[in-house]
Amino acid sequence: MSSAKKTDTVNVGEDIDAQCMKCRRVTNHRVVSLLDGVVKRVLCLTCQSQHNYRPPVAAKPAKPAKPASAKAEKTPKEARLPKETKEERVRKEALKAAQDELEQNGKQWRSLREKNKSAPVKYTLDGTYSADQVLAHPRFGTGFVIRLVMPNKIEVQFEDSLRVLVMNIGRPEPPAPPL
Ligand SMILES: [Zn+2]
Repeated sequence: MSSAKKTDTVNVGEDIDAQCMKCRRVTNHRVVSLLDGVVKRVLCLTCQSQHNYRPPVAAKPAKPAKPASAKAEKTPKEARLPKETKEERVRKEALKAAQDELEQNGKQWRSLREKNKSAPVKYTLDGTYSADQVLAHPRFGTGFVIRLVMPNKIEVQFEDSLRVLVMNIGRPEPPAPPL
C-alpha cells in the first residue's frame, strides 16, 4: 500500500492539486519544475502565481515522497494549509455576503424588468413617484419603485441594490400615498 518512492510520478507541465497561499486553498496547479522526481515549483492556475509546491491537505496524511535533504528542515506542519486568521475569515464572509446581496438584487431587478415594461421616467428630486413606476436614475440606472416608505421617500430596486430615494423636494404639498 504505502510504497514510498515514485508511486505517483508527475511530469513538468502536468496539472496537480496543490495548496496556493495566495488563493488560500487547494487549487489546480501546473508543475513547473521537479527536483529529484519531486514536484518543486508549481504555477497556480487560479491566480497565476508561481511558488514552491505545497501538497494539498489530504484526508489521510500520506506523504507521497519526502523532500530531498538539502533544504529539508521543513516540518510537515509548515507545509499545512495556513490557519485562516479571524480577520481574514470575517473579511471573506463580508465579501461573500456582499456578493450574495448583489446577486439577489440583480435577480430581483431582472425579474421586475421582465414584469414591468413601462417606459422609465427620469428621476428628479422634485418628482413624484409611486409604486410600480420605472425610474431612470442618472447614477444608478433603471430602477423599479417598490413602495412609498414615506410621503417623500420611495424604495427603489436598482440592479445593484435596493435604495431609498427622496422625492417631492420643494413641492408645497406632497400627495397622499396611494393605497
Ligand atoms: Zn493561487
